[in-house]
Amino acid sequence: MRTNGLMEGETMERLRNLPAIDRLKQDPRCKKYVLNETISESMLTELLQQIVASIRKSILQNEWTNAIKSEMEFTNYIVTQLKKEMTDLTTNSLQKVINATGVVLHTNLGRAPLARSAAERIYNVATAYSTLEYDIKTGTRGSRHDIVERYITALTGAEAALVVNNNAAAVYFVLKAFAKGKEVIVSRGELVEIGGSFRISSIMEESGATLVEIGTTNKTHLADYEQALTDETALMLKVHKSNFALIGFTEEVDTTDLRQLATKRNVPIYEDLGSGTLFDFKRKQIGSEPTVQEKVRAGIDLISFSGDKLLGGPQAGIIVGKKKYIDLLKKHQLMRVLRVDKFTLASLEATLKLYMNDQIEEIPTLRAILMDEAEIYEKARTFTDALSHEQAPFSLTIAKKSAKVGGGTMPEVELPTYVVKLKHKTRTSEEIARSLRKYKTQIITRLHDNKVIF
Ligand SMILES: *Cc1c(COP(=O)(O)O)cnc(C)c1O
Repeated sequence: MRTNGLMEGETMERLRNLPAIDRLKQDPRCKKYVLNETISESMLTELLQQIVASIRKSILQNEWTNAIKSEMEFTNYIVTQLKKEMTDLTTNSLQKVINATGVVLHTNLGRAPLARSAAERIYNVATAYSTLEYDIKTGTRGSRHDIVERYITALTGAEAALVVNNNAAAVYFVLKAFAKGKEVIVSRGELVEIGGSFRISSIMEESGATLVEIGTTNKTHLADYEQALTDETALMLKVHKSNFALIGFTEEVDTTDLRQLATKRNVPIYEDLGSGTLFDFKRKQIGSEPTVQEKVRAGIDLISFSGDKLLGGPQAGIIVGKKKYIDLLKKHQLMRVLRVDKFTLASLEATLKLYMNDQIEEIPTLRAILMDEAEIYEKARTFTDALSHEQAPFSLTIAKKSAKVGGGTMPEVELPTYVVKLKHKTRTSEEIARSLRKYKTQIITRLHDNKVIF
C-alpha cells in the first residue's frame, strides 16, 4: 500500500474537493432531470449520493487513477456519470426485439412469443381483480390449480395435472416429493445437461435423491433397470434427450417394456419430456418428437414439460399423470414455493384453448415451425422489394437455407427456409448488425461471410 506523506496529502485534497450533494443538486445539469420529471428529487439525491460514495471509496482505497482533483473537475465528472445512469435508467432493460436469427425458440430472446389472445388475457387479469382463488359458483374460496387442470387433462388424456414455475422446478419437485432419501434409476444415455447449467445429476443431488446410473452412454437394456431395482428405489426416471441426438449403435428401453417392469415391481416411472408437445409434428414430417398424449397412453405415471417451448405458451412447468401422484404434489409444502402467478395461468389457459378448438396457427411458435416454404419465400420477397432501390449502398439476395427449432428441442430437425443476405458496399457485416441493434425495435441477426443474414 502506498502510504507516503505525499499520497496521503493528495488523498486528503481529493476528499476535500468532492462536492456536497446539495450543491450538485443545484447544478442545472442535474436539476433538469427533476424539472422535466424524469426522476423525483429524492431519487436524484440518492443517485448523486451513490456516485459520490463510490468515488470516495475508490480514493480511499488508492484506486483512483483519474487525474481529476479540483471541485469543478469532480462536479463535471459526476454530472457525466449521472447522465450515463439516466440513459440506462430511462430506457427499458427488457425490450421487444425482432428475432431474425433463424432459431424459432431462442432462449436468450425469451423463447415462445405468446398468442395475441394469451397476451390479452394477461392484460385483462393484470388490470383488475380476478377469480384466481375464488369459486364463482359457490362464492367461496377456490383453488388456482383448477384453472387449467381440466384443459390439460382433456388435451393429454392424463388423470390429473399441475402447473409450477418452470420445467426445471417440476423435475426438482417430483424428485424431492417422491425420491428424497431414496434411489432414482436413470440411464447413462439420459444424464443430460440443458443450457443454463441445468444438469440432471445436480438437480438430483439438490433434491436429496440418490442417482443410480445404469447402462452405458449409447446402450441401456431392460435388464439394467431390472438389476438396479431395490427396496430403496423410488422412481425410474426417463429424460428426454432434448438438445442432442444419439445416433449409430444405440439402444434405449421401450416404454411398454419399462411399463411392465414398473407394474411388476410397483415402482412409478417419471419422464422429463423437456419440450413436450401437444401437437404431433411427426404428422407434418417434422422430427420425431413424441407427443405428451402418446406418453400418457404408454402409461408413464408422471410426465413434465415446459410451457414456453413447443407448447408456445408462458414460462411454466406442466406436470401430468396419475391422480394419486398429482394429489400428493398438490398437498406438498413445496407447492406454495413453486406455484405460478395469475399472469401465467391466464396466458396458459388462453394458449390451451387454442389447442382445444384447433386454432394452433394462432400460436406464433407453432406457426413459425409449420410455415411452408412458399410463404417464407413471399415474406423474403416482400422484405427485399421494400428495401431495394437503385441508389442503395447494399445488395440483397434471397437464398434457400434451413432454420432451427431451438430452445433445446428437436436438435436434428432442419426446417427448410429462405434467408435474405445483405451485403453493404462499404460497411462490414458487424457494423450493420450493430446498427440494427440500435433501432427502436432492434433486429437480431446472424452474420456469415461478411453478410448479414435475416
Ligand atoms: C428445457 C428442459 C428442462 C428445463 O425446462 P425449463 O422450462 O426451461 O425450466 C428440463 N428438462 C429437459 C429435458 C429440457 O429439455
